[in-house]
Amino acid sequence: MEKWPIGVFASVDAGLGVHLDVVQELGIPTIQVHAPHKQTRTPEAAQEFLDRCNAAGIQITCVFGGFDGESYADIPTTKKTVGLVPLETRAARVEEMKEISDFARLLGCHTVALHIGFVPEDRNSEDYKALVTETQHLLDYVKVNSQVLNLETGQESADHLLDFISDVARDNLKINFDPANMILYGTGDPIAALQRVGHLVASVHCKDATWAPEGKRGIDWGAEVPLGEGDVGMATYLRALNDIEYTGPLTIEREIPEDREQQKADIGKAVDLLDELKELIG
Ligand code: MG
Repeated sequence: MEKWPIGVFASVDAGLGVHLDVVQELGIPTIQVHAPHKQTRTPEAAQEFLDRCNAAGIQITCVFGGFDGESYADIPTTKKTVGLVPLETRAARVEEMKEISDFARLLGCHTVALHIGFVPEDRNSEDYKALVTETQHLLDYVKVNSQVLNLETGQESADHLLDFISDVARDNLKINFDPANMILYGTGDPIAALQRVGHLVASVHCKDATWAPEGKRGIDWGAEVPLGEGDVGMATYLRALNDIEYTGPLTIEREIPEDREQQKADIGKAVDLLDELKELIG
């Protein structure tokens, strides 16, 4: 693969990504795809999707897990509902993530990813230890499918994420770095975080956001905005990716599925911006 191929976050029938026809129209060569709903996670559906991607010359670089019942309405709701952290749904979601790993294998994809949720702060708590054990089981399963699992950033500080990854102690556990999430969740300066976790970054999102007002960070959401219009600083971000020697896809995320026309327009502009910056930095 060339250095830094452009990518976009795509969806089949679940998640916030663009549909494949938009990827094709924009001429984008790689996608991360949100796993479809359980009933469409079949070998036939996988083959059909793969055929469409192959025909369009689109490479699937990552399959993202997501679960029914997750809500990003506000930070407290996200904490209660997202990922493998919530106890009531943990066992079922670990099982579902294994199914998603199997689905990714059918797509010939060697990377799965997810938001694990807000990892408990206390490394000695029973809850934290149980999460570590469950994550280890999942990683061992994923490994049999010749896959790595990338954790999306944002819900933890860089240091807490590093602690967790080190406690899980599996070599197929990596990071999907999303600079905008660090801002949206108020978990730290994205560039400093990238420098801190760079050795574990295996995929990235190109997304932008503005901070919540001082005093409200980590309490209220920041705002997601079109790429280049937020507080990440895309040139600085790409330079930092260069410094950590990341060469994989630059996967654009624009999470406004309620306005598909705007989403497509913003992604088109994001492609142009990244192409320009690649010329300068890449
Ligand atoms: Mg993201």
